[in-house]
This record gives sequence, structure tokens and C-alpha cells, in this order.
Amino acid sequence: MKDVIIVGSGIAACSLAWQLHQQGKSLTLISDRKKGSSSVAAGVYNPMVLKRFTAVWNAGVQLEFLNNMFDYVLENTDIDVRTPITVARRFHDEKESLTWIKKSVREDLKTFMNSTVQKIDINGIEASSGYGLVNGTGWVDTIKFMSLTLSFFESLDSVYLEEFDYRRLKTSHNSVTYKTFSAAHIIFADGYRMLDNPYFDNLPIQGNKGEVLLIKVPGLELDYILKSSVFLMPYKDDLFWVGATYDRENLVDEATAAGQDFLTSRLERFMKLPYEIVEHKHGIRPTTIDRRPFVGHHSIHENIWVFNGMGSRAVLIAPWASLQLINCIYNNQPINAEIDIKRFEKVNP
Ligand SMILES: Cc1cc2nc3c(=O)[nH]c(=O)nc-3n(C[C@H](O)[C@H](O)[C@H](O)COP(=O)(O)OP(=O)(O)OC[C@H]3O[C@@H](n4cnc5c(N)ncnc54)[C@H](O)[C@@H]3O)c2cc1C
Repeated sequence: MKDVIIVGSGIAACSLAWQLHQQGKSLTLISDRKKGSSSVAAGVYNPMVLKRFTAVWNAGVQLEFLNNMFDYVLENTDIDVRTPITVARRFHDEKESLTWIKKSVREDLKTFMNSTVQKIDINGIEASSGYGLVNGTGWVDTIKFMSLTLSFFESLDSVYLEEFDYRRLKTSHNSVTYKTFSAAHIIFADGYRMLDNPYFDNLPIQGNKGEVLLIKVPGLELDYILKSSVFLMPYKDDLFWVGATYDRENLVDEATAAGQDFLTSRLERFMKLPYEIVEHKHGIRPTTIDRRPFVGHHSIHENIWVFNGMGSRAVLIAPWASLQLINCIYNNQPINAEIDIKRFEKVNP
């Protein structure tokens, strides 16, 4: 019998798997590898909310856990999936740059915000009001992270690639059994498809569809992730990601002309070089009404857990949140109240 079965193989499930492995726990990953939100994500981690110039909730701690986890992945696989690169917030006008300077000295923000407004000359980019630089940022190659995680756990004979049939889960007070697999606990990290999960269908998950473009821009040399009304991120060679859209209403599973128009029109406000669209991807972010993840156990079956609701920041939040769950299971520590699903029991007992 294993310690844990994890359902899923997105950023959430993979983060959990590595953290469990680091704690010496045995696991089986069950996934159908259908393309979830994680295969669309640009993988950016950034401790700031760049619309309002505020820090992401708990950002400093989350960054530390992120780096610890990816160091451990590197130790075990010889692959570093992180690309540290500075995020440069392009100011729309002088007023914004003055707000940036004012906020950058605040105690809670000064670690992340570089207080000098930078005038950086980038060929093809218009930014007359300059940029504010953010510390501690980068991106994770999420596709590589997921595939190397599956390969690593496959080499331990710990991966089962199949759609999980919720009806076949059997539970007792100290174990769960699914087909030929048994474990002390099962954790569902099934992303937006949690909607079909009968154990957690009471939780208020909200889909938020996002679209991104991969574009080819010959001649653009960019050493930053530029953040304006959309972001422009160097990927490889002369390929760049442009993203993203946010749509809670139209969750149809397809990339749209409206999404493409939104992205290209925003991009062209500041990027003046000719480009070609190479790929147009879409996915549905598993978001929650209070922008905090869902972590905790089922109200009756205490060995059935949920790890979901990573919203638009899975890369940053999942390493920290997965340790919250693991410490609850093995060290009897309470889960941070803001992410514990018990918060919904109070509203709806
Ligand atoms: C356009 C876009 C851009 C984004 N950019 C960023 C970014 O830059 N940085 C960032 O941090 N986040 C970003 N996000 C958000 C991020 O993608 C999500 O927060 C994250 O992918 C959620 O991961 P997850 O593992 O919970 O879900 P998913 O990635 O959806 O994974 C769910 C997994 O569960 C499996 N699964 C589900 N049900 C079953 C079942 N019944 N049986 C077997 N397997 C099952 C699926 O196969 C899949 O592997 C972006 C999202 C979008 C849409």
C-alpha cells in the first residue's frame, strides 16, 4: 500500500508529488494527461499584482517554497525548469510611474519593487514613460515540468495513465482503494474538471478561460518579461508569448477570434515590429470566489483530499500550498485558514 494516490498531473499534482517525495512518502499518480490549464500556462511567477502595484498574498513565503521545490527537482533530475528573468512593468503614463515610486518604499513592497524608474531602450518597443522592475520573477516551463515529473515517477513505477472513474473508489477509515491501487490517502488535483468530482462538487469552483498567443518576431531582442495591458515574454529563438485573456462567461472549449483580437490590439499599442502568429492556445483556470486555493479533506471521508483552485498563479502558490496539505496529513498541523476548505462549511454548514 502506498502513502498517497494523487489524481491529476498538472502543476498542482506535480508540485504535490515532488513535495511528498521529498518527505519520503510513496505515491501513485493517476492521470489521463488530458490538456488542462497547466499546458497553456506561460508559467510566469511574479510576487506582484501589476495592475494595482500590490504584493501577491503571502508572496515572499511562496517564492521561497517555489525555489526550494524546484531546487529539489533539479537535484533529482538534473533539469532546472525555471528561467529567472525580470518582469518589467511598462508604465502607461507619468502618473503611473510616480505611483510606482511612492509604493516601492513601502515595507511590504520594497523587497519586490525596484524603486528607480528605468528607461530601457528596446528596439521595436514604445515605452516613453519607462518601466518599473520587479525582483524575484521568472517563468517555469510547465510542459517540461509535467513531462519530467511523469517520467521520474514512471521510473519508480508510480504512474497510471487513465481517466479516473470516481465510482470505483472504495474507502475505509484508514485507506482508499482504486482498482488494484491502495493508499492511506487520496488527493484530487483535477483542476477545473473538479466539476465532475462527486466528492468535492459542493466547492464553488469558477472557470476563468484564458487565451495566449505564441508569436514570431524576428529582430526583437528582449531580456525582460514586459507587462503592459498584456504581457510579452521571450520563449525561445524569436518566439514570444503574448497573454492573457480572462473570461468567466464564455467557457466554450475553443480559442476565439475575439481573444486573438484582444491580444493583438493590446500588443500593437506598444510593440511596433512585424510579427506572425504561430500558435493560439486556450485553457480554463480553476479559480475560486475568494481567490484562494481549495485545500482540505472531505467532510466525512478524512482520507480524501482536495488540492485545487490555483487560479492564475499555480506556479507560485502550489509549492507552498502543497506543504500545507502534507503538514496537515503527517504532522497534524492546521491548514492555513484562508486556503482550508473548512471556510465554506461556515457559510454552508
Ligand atoms: C492562458 C493561461 C495562462 C496562464 N498563465 C499562468 C502563468 O503564467 N503562471 C501561473 O502560475 N499560472 C498561469 N495560469 C494558471 C494555471 O494554468 C493554473 O492555475 C494551473 O494550470 C492549474 O493547475 P492544476 O494542476 O490545478 O489543473 P490542470 O492543469 O487543469 O490539471 C488537471 C489535471 O487533472 C487531470 N484530470 C482531471 N480529471 C481527471 C480524471 N477524472 N482522471 C484522470 N485525470 C484527471 C488532467 O488530465 C490534468 O492533468 C494560466 C492559465 C491560463 C489559462
